[in-house]
Amino acid sequence: MSRIHTTEEKQLIDSLGRVHNNLRISVTDRCNIRCFYCMPAENIEFQPREELLTYEEIERFVTVAATLGVSKLRLTGGEPLLRKDLSKLIKRLAAIPGIRDLALTTNGLLLAEQAAALKSAGLDRVNISLDTLNEQTFEKISRRPGLERVLEGIFAAQQADFKKIRLNAIAIRNLTEAEVIPLAQFARIHALELRFIEFMPLDAEGHWEPEDILTGATIRSLLENELCPLEPIERDDPSQPATDYRFTDGLGTIGFINPVSEPFCGDCNRLRLTAEGQIRNCLFSDTEWDAKSILRNTRSDHELAQLLRECVAAKLPAHGIGQPDFKKPTLAMYQIGG
Ligand code: SAM
Ligand code: SF4
Repeated sequence: MSRIHTTEEKQLIDSLGRVHNNLRISVTDRCNIRCFYCMPAENIEFQPREELLTYEEIERFVTVAATLGVSKLRLTGGEPLLRKDLSKLIKRLAAIPGIRDLALTTNGLLLAEQAAALKSAGLDRVNISLDTLNEQTFEKISRRPGLERVLEGIFAAQQADFKKIRLNAIAIRNLTEAEVIPLAQFARIHALELRFIEFMPLDAEGHWEPEDILTGATIRSLLENELCPLEPIERDDPSQPATDYRFTDGLGTIGFINPVSEPFCGDCNRLRLTAEGQIRNCLFSDTEWDAKSILRNTRSDHELAQLLRECVAAKLPAHGIGQPDFKKPTLAMYQIGG
């Protein structure tokens, strides 16, 4: 099997000039909770384990992607910490030439026991999902108990001293309004960054409606009325999806990811690899490029690189949510990788 050895960077640039240097890798579609905005409550058919890419296959894929300019990785799922010995994968990925930033998104339930090992394996940053500080609301959202364990996970991550720890909260109308102030206060007290992410039409049960959107603008005014004025922070990276603000009393920052009310497709630099080895160029496109069949059939790294280029070349300008011909993707968030 041939390996690409190139010093000349052949970047993954699409027809709109968007440079794709950011890869999200789902390591599993399984999860230990059942958030209603992501997974079905029951009767879930998970991918058989043999369909998931092995750590060797993921490493090979990333090695090829890195020769094409991919430098930022985020591991996600499903719940990535359910995958056995995830720190072994992190160690392999951190050693790949060209990889400069290695991050993880987790629900935090298994983080307390894994944080130290993840950090020493080379994980730079952790995003922890935290939608509420109320156990009853946690159970209503995730259909499972566990808030205490998530909080333990957050504190363990702080102990492990990652470069950055961020809290992600979903923003859904008639649910999140009551959580905004307690979450912001928690983040401020514990010196954590907090970002609110608008609910997207990626729930498995297909209940999403445009009316469910709680915009960043609404949350901002809740925060300014109850806590403190906010001032925008200049973006250092135009492809970052969040708009960040700092509290003018100097205590913390708040960010908003508004993919529906303020789409940022024009600056998108992201590609996705699903747990079963399919490449996707957008959360909202159903088209997949089959990397697994190349990885499993002793085909060359050149073919893998070509597949990545084809995937990027076919990327549409925007997700089209709100357009008359928009169709919700067939896969839900946990199947693609959030
Ligand atoms: N299980 C991990 C977790 O929850 O952090 C990683 C995977 S999860 C799919 C990644 C992120 O996607 C979470 O922050 C979650 O809140 C977010 N998410 C899931 N479904 C969503 C939806 N329909 N709209 C917006 N964000 C969603
Ligand atoms: Fe699991 Fe994360 Fe989806 Fe919640 S959002 S069901 S934690 S994969």
